[in-house]
Amino acid sequence: MTSEIYERLRRVDPDYYTFERVNDMVPLLDKVRRLKRERHAVLLAHNYQRAEIFEVADETGDSLGLALKAAEVKEAKVIVFCGVHFMAETAKIVNPTKTVLLPDPSAGCSLADSAPADAVRDRIEELKQAFPDLAVVTYVNTTADVKALSDICCTSGNAVSVVRSLPARNILFIPDRNLARHVANNVPDKNIIAWDGACYIHEQITPEAVLQVRSAIPGLKILAHPECRDDVLAIADATLSTSGMIDYARRSDATKFLAVTECGLSDLLSIEVPDKQFYRACKICPFMKSITLENVVESLEKLQFEITIPEETRRQAERAIHRMFEVTSRDAIPLPPNVPVE
Ligand code: SF4
Repeated sequence: MTSEIYERLRRVDPDYYTFERVNDMVPLLDKVRRLKRERHAVLLAHNYQRAEIFEVADETGDSLGLALKAAEVKEAKVIVFCGVHFMAETAKIVNPTKTVLLPDPSAGCSLADSAPADAVRDRIEELKQAFPDLAVVTYVNTTADVKALSDICCTSGNAVSVVRSLPARNILFIPDRNLARHVANNVPDKNIIAWDGACYIHEQITPEAVLQVRSAIPGLKILAHPECRDDVLAIADATLSTSGMIDYARRSDATKFLAVTECGLSDLLSIEVPDKQFYRACKICPFMKSITLENVVESLEKLQFEITIPEETRRQAERAIHRMFEVTSRDAIPLPPNVPVE
């Protein structure tokens, strides 16, 4: 058992995942599995989580994939969300009868924090004076309060198709300015008004760092997340959501990739696509990495920390999320239509 897990995890980082360290993790992994059975719980893990969390996850995925999975949970009573606060909120919004737990209540998100609900409400009122047809499109990296103010939600994988689907020409896009620019480039007939927010993790990745890796590795394919700066996206071979990157790496004839996003995705790629090589110019999100096996065990033992949302807010946010579900089929998630696989 230990050696199987060790073989998987050492592909991620042989210096960190030593045999001794993995051996020490095994009792905790067993404990999480036992507690999941006792609590009738499922564990959903975002693609940026620690590699050992993937070992006990029932589902891994990007924001949209996990929101869909959370909505489908029927038998289990508890959803343990290994991700950040807005993601656990989304699970509660789409499946309100379940107990949704976030193992670390301080697992926030700088991007979600950049759009406080009061400021968003004021901006919507102001813009509606100038643009009566205004539609409010909210990236899922926002609080439930902000989703409740929105016409429709989107993820990085479906933002372009969500905006294309709207009859309105004037769109307030909240909160990521880089994703807004990516959408504006792909849907030129819309007037995209970007909220001035950004993910401070993706903002730290520079084109110089990416080009340094590219010049050292011939044949490297660069896959960049749309939350990256536009000078980084300009040198990428494809701009993709995290699940889109996994799909691309599986289907591509290329064997060497640089996943330009949070480092957890490179870890997951090393596990999921073991016959290819993944290089790094990534950054670590401390909010994502605050979820550990230890606090997952504690979360299951004490049923902490439970996500609660006022019902009126939840209902309005659910409407915006369901509109997104209606616009995008599951098949549309992995690759936006303008991205060829080479
Ligand atoms: S990587 Fe950025 S957008 Fe994602 S959770 Fe961390 S701070 Fe938020």
